[in-house]
Amino acid sequence: MRIGIAGARGSIPTPTGKTLFERVMETTKYGGNTTCVYVHADDGTEHILDAGTGIRDLGVYLATQGGFNGKEGKKLNLYISHTHWDHIQGLPFFVPAYIPGNKISVYGEAKVKSIHPGTKESLESAIAEHSDQPGNLPGLLRVEGDGVRTVLGKQQEFRNFPAPLELLKGIEGYYDFIAGSTIYETSTLKVDTLALNHPGNSISYRFSERKSDGSTKVLVFSTDFEPDQNGFDDKVIRFWEGADLVIADAQYEPRESEVKINPFMAGWGHSDYRTDLQMAAAAGVKKLVLTHHEPKMGDSYHDALEQRAQQEASAIETETGRKVQVELAKEGTWYEL
Ligand SMILES: [Zn+2]
Ligand SMILES: [Zn+2]
Repeated sequence: MRIGIAGARGSIPTPTGKTLFERVMETTKYGGNTTCVYVHADDGTEHILDAGTGIRDLGVYLATQGGFNGKEGKKLNLYISHTHWDHIQGLPFFVPAYIPGNKISVYGEAKVKSIHPGTKESLESAIAEHSDQPGNLPGLLRVEGDGVRTVLGKQQEFRNFPAPLELLKGIEGYYDFIAGSTIYETSTLKVDTLALNHPGNSISYRFSERKSDGSTKVLVFSTDFEPDQNGFDDKVIRFWEGADLVIADAQYEPRESEVKINPFMAGWGHSDYRTDLQMAAAAGVKKLVLTHHEPKMGDSYHDALEQRAQQEASAIETETGRKVQVELAKEGTWYEL
């Protein structure tokens, strides 16, 4: 599979340029668009992780690759980690979604938490029918929050944006799933999910691709998570096990870091390079790509952060014999697995 970084900035887009004030921050090296990752699988299927502002330019790129002739349409899957603004705000500007005939499927975590005893419905059928009806549906199920379609619809309510979600005729369906389930499976590609610790949850996606020589390549996308001390790390480590490439949130400096800027904010739902490296080493990850870059910080800070992460990776290798290649995500970078 080919993997492209279309947006690596956390929380809010961060353009380079002159501001009203003295400080001019350079962000061109790591990029200013919020989270979006493109995956082109060996079987030709296309997948997008998150719809941050990076998805706008990705839509233009996809249009130049063909598939928009209006006859067969473009088939692709869009997986939303969670619906915080920085992960969905690009969708209203994603041109392929407006083109009738395209077949885009959007996936997000179901907020259906339980079904009441006595109902004949399975959890899966309850989600399919009711995940967009938040509240307690008498005698049926408990829903905490909206389904992915409803949340995306609210973003495009008339007072928020002039074009309603209904105009996105290229979107064929919205699918809510229970975290932990496998949501896509063919003979060569499987997508598994895991709930991460983040305010309101964030979903991690694991892509396993079977190659023609029988080997398997694995990509894991884990944005927006805060490891806790209660064994949660173990769950993430298991999910990262043996991955060739992990793209992981490292917005903050490590807890008790010698660097005092951009400190770790407990409870804000983000990780740091030290924790990610330790987990990646424990999981046998080959390459770790750090993302969700702090919007307050420019390229020179992130250059230094990358250096420190690489020094720490060398120290881990000396100490444990486990080698993890580490670098910061840069918008415009491609990886091949
Ligand atoms: Zn975020
Ligand atoms: Zn978030």
